[in-house]
Amino acid sequence: MEDGPTYGFDTLQIHAGSRPDPVTGARQTPIYQSTAYVFRDAEHAASLFNLQEVGYIYSRLTNPTVSVLQERIATLEGGVGAVCCSSGHAAQIMALFPLMSPGCNVIASTRLYGGTVTQFSQTIKRFGWSAKFVDFDDLDALKNAIDENTRAVFCEAIANPGGYITDLQAISSISDKAGLPLIVDNTTATPYLCRPIEYGATIVVHSTTKYMTGNGTVTGGCIVDSGKFDWSANQKFPSLSEPEPAYHGLRFHETFGALAFTFHGIAVGLRDLGMTMNPQAAHYTLMGLETLSLRMQRHSDNALKIASWLEEQETVEAVTYAGLKSSPYFDRVKKVCPKGAGGLFTVALKGGYDSCVKFVNALEIFSHVANLGDSRSLVIHTASTTHRQLTVEQQIAAGSAPNVVRISIGIEDPEDLIADLKQALSAAK
Ligand SMILES: *Cc1c(COP(=O)(O)O)cnc(C)c1O
Repeated sequence: MEDGPTYGFDTLQIHAGSRPDPVTGARQTPIYQSTAYVFRDAEHAASLFNLQEVGYIYSRLTNPTVSVLQERIATLEGGVGAVCCSSGHAAQIMALFPLMSPGCNVIASTRLYGGTVTQFSQTIKRFGWSAKFVDFDDLDALKNAIDENTRAVFCEAIANPGGYITDLQAISSISDKAGLPLIVDNTTATPYLCRPIEYGATIVVHSTTKYMTGNGTVTGGCIVDSGKFDWSANQKFPSLSEPEPAYHGLRFHETFGALAFTFHGIAVGLRDLGMTMNPQAAHYTLMGLETLSLRMQRHSDNALKIASWLEEQETVEAVTYAGLKSSPYFDRVKKVCPKGAGGLFTVALKGGYDSCVKFVNALEIFSHVANLGDSRSLVIHTASTTHRQLTVEQQIAAGSAPNVVRISIGIEDPEDLIADLKQALSAAK
């Protein structure tokens, strides 16, 4: 099937990137469990290695199953190309890698997945990179944080642990004016609820571990390029605009145009960082994507019902879900994610830290795990787990205060989930 803008999302999530196997006619995308690919002859091999011809060499760089997934995600996000990798965290490093060099910084939202805060505030320093954290609702603070060494702006569309919606259009107009790429982590929204490129994002990153795969089976990541950024407008992005010594002085932007970032991600990023997605993982994610829209709609509908119920309960202090009228992001979510506010929110209990621990222990259908975006409902006390490495100030800024529990609503019967929450709330009193 030819992919075209005429097809709807539900059609593309099943068909984009896949064709019947040319050898066997297999209708489902085969798992190409092969490390290497035979060259037609020595000239073919040479032209592949010179990037003069696109083809398969070695599965650290490209694999036919992974390629189908890349094309499918790029299509769903409205990008020109995508590179899959081993995890969401790998995707973040892979996205920053062509942009940054020692001394450079990324401006990041304070409202991020806890692991990303740790990666950005601690680990990237080992590369000589740094992050400046800013409240992305304070547009002046964002403008003021940008300096001559800034190379990217980074945020999440629906920010983990839930309830916060980023005004992507306002943020992208600032990054655009500053001549900087905007990277949006779209893990918790998925392209069904939000397509950040339509709001001006340059790059979209994913932890495909979560909703994109949807069943809690494999870790994976993806970097999608909008193809819209001019990497040669100034001297800030030499990896993309200047000659690459390891490819005989090839300039990625000049040679590959809109696909420069994608080609660099494979030919340099995967080649040298080696954060490769394996074909089994790509298979599971392809299976998951076939039902993405159905699942995300159910996640969102369930979450709205359950958040509304929770908000009425006596022992509950607050529920942060952008789909609720009480949320300061209620109007913004209608603009950024018109189909629903996703499956993720937090609930603050009046009983504090101890009450949260009892609540989490008493739940039966909900599993207490460090994951989100599964078909089954999940819960976690973030202050004692995912956000444990952060200071209390950072925890509060990230929406993970000590009396807060993060809930990832699954696609079970909402009545059963409410009954489970009800008994756990009384056990937590
Ligand atoms: C889980 C997650 C990540 C990290 O992804 P991994 O696949 O666990 O490496 C990054 N961002 C968000 C929003 C996440 O939920």
